[in-house]
Amino acid sequence: MIIAVDGPTASGKGTVAAGLAKHFGLKRLDTGALYRAVGLAVLDAGRDPGDEAAAVAAARALDLGAIDEHRIRSSIVGLAASKVAAMSAVRAVLRETQRAFAADSAGAVLDGRDIGTVICPDAEVKLFVTATLPVRTQRRLNELRARGEQISFEELHAQIAERDRRDTERVDSPLRQAADAHSLDTSELSIAEAVEAARRIVEGAVRR
Ligand code: C5P
Repeated sequence: MIIAVDGPTASGKGTVAAGLAKHFGLKRLDTGALYRAVGLAVLDAGRDPGDEAAAVAAARALDLGAIDEHRIRSSIVGLAASKVAAMSAVRAVLRETQRAFAADSAGAVLDGRDIGTVICPDAEVKLFVTATLPVRTQRRLNELRARGEQISFEELHAQIAERDRRDTERVDSPLRQAADAHSLDTSELSIAEAVEAARRIVEGAVRR
């Protein structure tokens, strides 16, 4: 079974995807981590995130087992990720990486922006996870503050709005809900409630 989980930054899609993978005993791929790892590699190489040749080289060299889970979570890397993610040549390389992961698994949960629409359009179950912009900003603020990053609510709110705009307006594989995806608004839900709601959607969908 392939479960596709899409949604904007800090919507809760990663938490939902991890919870579903655990519950159903499936492998999970956080596809945002791939774009973040490419953004980080470009920055580490001393290049500009807008440097397409550097980004494509980093995407080709990406080793899924060697992603630095801590460093990719900074806000600078998040911004670099959304820049490299707007490049079709980078998306083409990572599309193959993601499809190979899905094809290689007995079943998997993949979360990102275009899983249900582009990467796994035949996924058995698709979820589109949302939350309001203020709720998403507060969640990301808590994460960044826990890492010791100093940023104001207003600044982060503007950054996330900008990231949303770039994700939804890009020409190649924009963030949008697949016609056959189930919506899940996590604004008012705890982590446990969000995972539980997602589990019920998956079970309802596979029963049909
Ligand atoms: O989900 P996360 O915020 O970690 O993703 C980082 C960036 O990677 C996003 O801003 C988005 O631009 C990009 N991304 C994407 N397609 C995906 C996953 C992430 O374009 N499937």
